[in-house]
Amino acid sequence: MIDIQKIRNDFPILQKTVYGKPLIYLDNTATTQTPSAVVDDIVHSYYNAKANVHRGTFHMAQMATEAMEATRRRVAQLINAPSASDIIFTRGTTESINLVASSYGQLIPDGSEIILTVMEHHANIVPWQLLRTRKHITIKVVPIHADGTLDLDTYRSLFSERTALVAVTHVSNVLGTVNPVKDIIETAHAHGVPVLVDGAQAIAHMRVDVQQLDADFYAFSSHKMYGPSGIGVLYGRQSLLEKMPPYQGGGEMIAHVSFEKTTFADLPYKFEAGTPDFVDIAALHTAIDYMDSIGVENINAHEQELLRYATVRMLEIPGMRIFGTAPGKEAIISFLIGNAHHFDTGTLLDKLGVAVRTGHHCAQPLMAALGIEGCVRASFAVYNTRDEVDKFIEAIYRILPLIQ
Ligand code: PLP
Repeated sequence: MIDIQKIRNDFPILQKTVYGKPLIYLDNTATTQTPSAVVDDIVHSYYNAKANVHRGTFHMAQMATEAMEATRRRVAQLINAPSASDIIFTRGTTESINLVASSYGQLIPDGSEIILTVMEHHANIVPWQLLRTRKHITIKVVPIHADGTLDLDTYRSLFSERTALVAVTHVSNVLGTVNPVKDIIETAHAHGVPVLVDGAQAIAHMRVDVQQLDADFYAFSSHKMYGPSGIGVLYGRQSLLEKMPPYQGGGEMIAHVSFEKTTFADLPYKFEAGTPDFVDIAALHTAIDYMDSIGVENINAHEQELLRYATVRMLEIPGMRIFGTAPGKEAIISFLIGNAHHFDTGTLLDKLGVAVRTGHHCAQPLMAALGIEGCVRASFAVYNTRDEVDKFIEAIYRILPLIQ
């Protein structure tokens, strides 16, 4: 059992009030809050170790470099990457996927096909469309069943000798569906096709083991795992990363530069041009330690309990429609009430202190497949409580007469 009150004390922001009401923060899919230990770590770096990394010979520069490289090793350990040099720091999941699309994309021959799913976040759609403006490629899309699970029969039927890549989300940011990525990867590998997994919604809620999954690329964001904003991770299979051309040019990513010819640094630096966000990268280490000190299995069990409780209570509300009912889904509840506009529901809930997300959730193709323009989304993290679920449900009952 985890002590939620103790955990809540680690997040001072949760004591805030909104419009005079206690904040009930249920937009954890968009970003999680940050524990004091991580904020303290950032402050500590600014006061004690602010020196550019990989450049200075002086003591403080070495401290900053070591802190950043320690995070790289810690991330590798978290996802069981074979080596820390397979870990590339980026600005977030979005940049990680763009890196693969623009660099690995150059290795994809014209006439290739890429398989995506209808539940992808725009971050795992648009980079491939941008590639399509540069190369002659076709995008094929795996549909979903009514419960929000992937249609795997169709997935298997989409492969051809032209398939060059599969890019799939581990967990849907709208439906909460946890996709069977290990099986998806096995199928793709049987066709000799590599797989990129968008792990943005998985990393803070389940144990991720890139070797066990046999993933070729795995992308995630620090700000969705109790870490600082502005940084992300791309794990890549070393044999692929080695073949890939640099993503951006600049300092740090070179071995030697002359106007005639430039040679590039070894992994992972080949993909890290310019000064990285070394302060936040160092603090990601603390966020991972924080998550580990609770245990991701415990985090998941707590969130699942909230999901079960909230789902039962929500389904008692007249006119409630929940999108995504896949078995074993994550603690994300997307819903609409009667004919109420999602924006009105969200705005009124906000006035009662409840922060939920409204709109298309950067998944417009999924909204189209569901036949809706948008919906309201409540999503849970380790610090949410049953009492907050009760207050959220109470708030919905209070606004019902206004939205119906
Ligand atoms: N992929 C998924 C499934 C997401 O939920 C998100 C963000 O919500 C992203 C990608 C993009 O993450 P970021 O904005 O941190 O790059």
